[in-house]
Amino acid sequence: MLRLSRRAFLRALAGSVVGILAPSRGLAGARTLEVICRRAWGAEEPTGEFRRHRIRRLTVHHSGVVLTDNTEAPARFRSHQASHQARGWPDIAYHLLIDRNGNVYEGRPFRAEPDTATNYDPRGHFTVMCEGNFQEQRPSKLQLAALAGVLAWAVGEYDVGVGTIHGHLEYADTACPGRALQRRLDEVRRMVRDRIRSGGVRLVELCGREGRQRVADIEAGPAEPRFTSS
Ligand SMILES: [Zn+2]
Repeated sequence: MLRLSRRAFLRALAGSVVGILAPSRGLAGARTLEVICRRAWGAEEPTGEFRRHRIRRLTVHHSGVVLTDNTEAPARFRSHQASHQARGWPDIAYHLLIDRNGNVYEGRPFRAEPDTATNYDPRGHFTVMCEGNFQEQRPSKLQLAALAGVLAWAVGEYDVGVGTIHGHLEYADTACPGRALQRRLDEVRRMVRDRIRSGGVRLVELCGREGRQRVADIEAGPAEPRFTSS
């Protein structure tokens, strides 16, 4: 069943930030994927105005910084946000962030065009960043599963094709999302199709005390996979 806090429900009604889900699409077999709220992972408020955009394609990134100890992931995201805002961007560049254990974190609002330091027009891109440097390490199974999960959600939510899933390096002169992740994208697209065929994915926000507890658990030690059957 759909589990939404009252606050998340009101936000969904208001159409803000995480565009949660259309409740009645007959997704009997839908799996639930939790998204840790910005406040729960310690994100700062945006420092400027966003440009609105309409999502037309789904693009995969890495952070480019090797991550071996997943307890450091939330601090990484805070540091990425700080460095992105220091460049003059209003917020962390990406819409969703995924750590090595497959925990998903809310980035900038989905309605907001992303930012990039590379030479392509990011308008219309829904950007998902996997923490790590996949020129030097491999994505974990949990990270790939969560990536496929959020992309399956986005395919349904924005009515874009699975074929719009690409790596950043297909648009710009960059190594992002790294060789070891880029070469898994065919497999990720297959996982997305499978996920959609078997009922899709629903995103639920993990906010407030629950969200802060989850982040505290992540920072304290190994976390559980975030997929649950509903
Ligand atoms: Zn990138």
